[in-house]
Parts: sequence; structure tokens; C-alpha cells
Amino acid sequence: MKKLMAANWKMFKTWDDAKTTAEELVSLTASNLPEDREVLIFPPFTALKGVAEAMASEGFSAGGQDYYIEEEGAFTGEISPKMLMDVGATYGLTGHSERRHVLGENDEYIGQKTAYGLEAGLNVVFCIGEKIDERKAGKVEEVLERQIRVGLKGVPTDIAPEKLSVAYEPVWAIGTGEVAGPEEIVAAHTFTRKTLISIFGEKANEMRILYGGSVKPGNCSDIIALDNVDGVLVGGASLLSESFSQIVLA
Ligand code: PGA
Repeated sequence: MKKLMAANWKMFKTWDDAKTTAEELVSLTASNLPEDREVLIFPPFTALKGVAEAMASEGFSAGGQDYYIEEEGAFTGEISPKMLMDVGATYGLTGHSERRHVLGENDEYIGQKTAYGLEAGLNVVFCIGEKIDERKAGKVEEVLERQIRVGLKGVPTDIAPEKLSVAYEPVWAIGTGEVAGPEEIVAAHTFTRKTLISIFGEKANEMRILYGGSVKPGNCSDIIALDNVDGVLVGGASLLSESFSQIVLA
């Protein structure tokens, strides 16, 4: 199983800057990318085509940060998986904390999106994670279990395991500089793995579980070495090619 080193650029970067950053990243990492690593960028929609072109080499790919649950139609402002794939995307992102807590998406809708994206042909990175008050109340497993079970409800159990990755991103660690500790990460990832196995069976051992939340060049190699950590999803520290290339190669 290759480790997935993913960048989430959120609502940052113009088309030109995005393409340049992706080209720089490829030139900094392509020649020494370990065989067991894959690199992925989720740029904003407007930059997707340029980034996908820059990431066209082996081991590199691009994805859409969001998409709607229909192929086409009267859905003003929305983008379909088919449109993402048309400009070179092979991945989609669902359940990100900002879509849950800023844009108001609930577990059911995220579940519809995850199932639809897979069905339409995308690989999906599905995000889960608890808020700080939920952690303080001892509800981490309860929250993760609900997010996983509802969020993956529509995914066929015969799904190819490499198509679906889960990103554990504790909300309190996103963009705060406060990274989760190794025990917290291992506990959440082990619980996630157990829950995935209970849904999909043993092949869930081949689904990647990424960690996200204040990953930086300085902490990535420790995080990536932990049990059940099969990659990272990086926001802030992925915006510059210099720092993201260090993470990719960490
Ligand atoms: P961060 O964001 O690396 O800036 O904490 C992670 C994410 O939102 O995926």
C-alpha cells in the first residue's frame, strides 16, 4: 500500500500560482519519490486543469475539493465528478471539517457524496474528526463511529479498497499549529481501522487512513511512521512547494 501525501489548498491560490507551485513540487520530488509514496493536490476548482497537467507524471495526481451528487443539471454553482474528471482529476474530497462545520454539511449528505463520487469513478478521500468539546467529553469514538457508519453507508461493500481513503483530522488540530499527540493519533486510527473492518471486512486493511491537522516538515516523519498511518492530508504547510516537498519526502 502506497502512502498518500495529500495537499488541501482550500480557497487559496490563483490559477497561475497553483500551476507554478505544482510544477515546482514535481521537480523537487519526482526524481527521489520513494516507490511507496503517492502525491496528491486538491487545488481550488479554477486551478484544477493546470495542476492536473503539472501532476501528470507517475505517482502524482490531482483532485477536486468538493462536488455535487448528480452528473449534470440545474444546480447553480455546483460541479460534478464528471466535470472534475474531464479536467484531469482522479480524486475527490468529502467530509472535510470546513464543509461540515463552516458550510453546514451533515453526515447523510456527506455519505451521499462519498458513495456518488466512488460510483462516478473518482477515488475518494473521506474526512472525519471530532471537535475539542467532543474530545473533552470523552466522545471521540462515538463521533468517529457515527461519521464513518453514516458517511460510508452507501458505499458498496465490494468496493476496491484502494479507491477509498479515510482522513482522520481532529477539528481542534486543523490550522491551529496544535498537532495531535502520537497516542491520540494511533488510538483514533486503530479505532477507524476496526470500524472499517467491521463494515468492509479484512480488505479494509488495504484502505488508507491519513492523518491531518497541523502536519509540517518538522513533524511529518514521526507521524507517518505511526501504526495505521498511511499518509497525511496537509493544509497550510502544503501551500509552498519547498515545505510540501519536505513533507512528501519525509
Ligand atoms: P492544516 O489543515 O494542515 O492547515 O492544519 C489540514 C486540513 O484542513 O486538511
